Amino acid sequence: MHDQAIKILEKQRQDLVVRVLKKHEEMEATRSFTERILAGISELFLLMDQEFKVIQTNREFLQRTGFSLDAGRRLTLDDLVRQDTADAIRQAFAKGEFAEFEAQLATVAGQGLPVKMRGSTHVNPNGLVLHMLICSDCSEFYDLMTQMQEGQKQLIHSSRLASLGEMAAGVGHELTQPLNAILLFARNCLKALETPGDHAEMLRENLSIIIDRVNKASSIIATMRSFGTKAEEEQAPVELNAIIRKILSFLESQLRLSEIVLDLRLADQPCEVLGVEVRLEQVFLNLVQNAIQAMGRVDTPRLTVTSRIVLCLNLTTMLKEPYVLVTVADNGEGIAEELQKKIFDPFFTTREVGTGMGLGLSIVDRIVRGFAGYIEVESAPGHGSYFSVYIPQYVRDASPNLRRSGAT
Ligand code: ADP
Repeated sequence: MHDQAIKILEKQRQDLVVRVLKKHEEMEATRSFTERILAGISELFLLMDQEFKVIQTNREFLQRTGFSLDAGRRLTLDDLVRQDTADAIRQAFAKGEFAEFEAQLATVAGQGLPVKMRGSTHVNPNGLVLHMLICSDCSEFYDLMTQMQEGQKQLIHSSRLASLGEMAAGVGHELTQPLNAILLFARNCLKALETPGDHAEMLRENLSIIIDRVNKASSIIATMRSFGTKAEEEQAPVELNAIIRKILSFLESQLRLSEIVLDLRLADQPCEVLGVEVRLEQVFLNLVQNAIQAMGRVDTPRLTVTSRIVLCLNLTTMLKEPYVLVTVADNGEGIAEELQKKIFDPFFTTREVGTGMGLGLSIVDRIVRGFAGYIEVESAPGHGSYFSVYIPQYVRDASPNLRRSGAT
């Protein structure tokens, strides 16, 4: 009886060993199958335990980041991303809502790898929690974006230089006046010195006029130089009324030469937006220059520029929010209805060959959209055009009551 029991027990032990071996084989097969699948995907894959320690990755992850899983210390989420990103990822896993994250993945070489991350949590039947992250490498996309932005900067710079060329005629005229005055008063001084008598008072007066005209000429040249320099790209609060005044004072001689009446109606309150000063100068410079050109054949040309704060629906937040609205209107040739959609296309121009590149409005549109704004045009052919530029108002104190103050 005793031998019989031993035999049964031995048989049971053998069965158990066979079953364990089979299970092990199955697990190994599954493991090598998942490893082969993971090796085949071009995205970076990593699996973490409950404490966000990395358990498994695919080869792509190790190759791109340079990390190794054999190192003495276990790799954790905090080794892979910045602290604030790691906290956000932990929170997203905890809430079970993992929206796509953009992050910089650390690499052994030190440069971050820009990625888009997706994640999900799996709990196996034994209650083991596994966090899975899949990261798509975005470095090529970012390189392309950087190249595009660089190209756009160069385009804007070239367009500023082109504007500079257009303005040169007007500014040249503006400089002639102080230079003539300087010549005249300097000659007066010389004549006085050659004539006997006390001319100290007259010399002092003439010389101070000369100094005044030199200062005027210098300020004209300084403004031109500021237009020719390359643009800074940092966004900061910019006051649009000041920009408009600057542009109009710069174009003053062009407006005077073309006998254009200026109707300027700027808001009493500051009209601040978040943007880049030189880019916003470019926007209003282009719009006003287009208006001047459009009024070339009009008997009583009139340019109207207004600014005010309005409440508009923000299509991103779906809330009514304060925007700065700047309008530039002329009573020039106008734009035929079928062309109104095309004028923002790059290289669309109705000007004679060699006079317009057709880039002005496409750049204006890009810049305004870059600051979360938009531009609209209304025009009655033969009567004039009305351009409206909307850019979200920059509100220093973002409490709801203040955000809406002043908006109409
Ligand atoms: P360009 O001035 O070099 O032609 P833009 O992109 O600035 O390039 O303008 C594109 C076209 O839009 C112009 O050729 C012109 O036909 C039209 N346009 C722009 N602004 C006005 C305006 N204020 N009045 C009439 N037409 C305009």
